[in-house]
Amino acid sequence: MDLLPEPPSANSNPAVYETPIAFSNPGIVVSPNAVQSASPSSVPSRYENQKRRDWNTFCQYLRNHRPPLSLGMCSGAHVLEFLRYLDQFGKTKVHNQPCPFFGLVNPPAPCPCPLRQAWGSLDALVGRLRAAYEENGGKPETNPFGARAVRLYLREVRDFQSKARGVSYEKKRKRPKAKDSMMMASPTAASSSSG
Ligand SMILES: [Zn+2]
Repeated sequence: MDLLPEPPSANSNPAVYETPIAFSNPGIVVSPNAVQSASPSSVPSRYENQKRRDWNTFCQYLRNHRPPLSLGMCSGAHVLEFLRYLDQFGKTKVHNQPCPFFGLVNPPAPCPCPLRQAWGSLDALVGRLRAAYEENGGKPETNPFGARAVRLYLREVRDFQSKARGVSYEKKRKRPKAKDSMMMASPTAASSSSG
């Protein structure tokens, strides 16, 4: 089931709207089962689209898996396999330990370190797939995306990438990073004194 993309308005005639659904229909009561995000054009949200794409990708991965895997057989270990498989499509340079640029946000030169999926992408992806799994009939108790191994893996990736790239995902450290205040304006600049 693909979404119909909005046709490019080559024949631009903004006055002609064939289906003025949901545009101004305050009287319609949507049942609670229906999709919540009722945007004016009734297009599912970006998140929903992304979730569906991710889910399709995962299902395809399962189909191509050798030996074949069904959803029901899928465990956290398979999710980890999937996440590692996705690394080959990653766009985030993650430096290895011996690389001289380890820990630099903007390395001055290229290096042979691999591109990976950024932790933030993986984390969001797992969240979407976790939801999709249950929306597709999976039981929460057996949800492989909620497996402990997956959580641990994500944490490892986060920790390693934050070191390798000099990016801190958490504000645990005491040292204030006064280095690059131009680039990354942190949303909570107010330093609450904790100590
Ligand atoms: Zn490197």
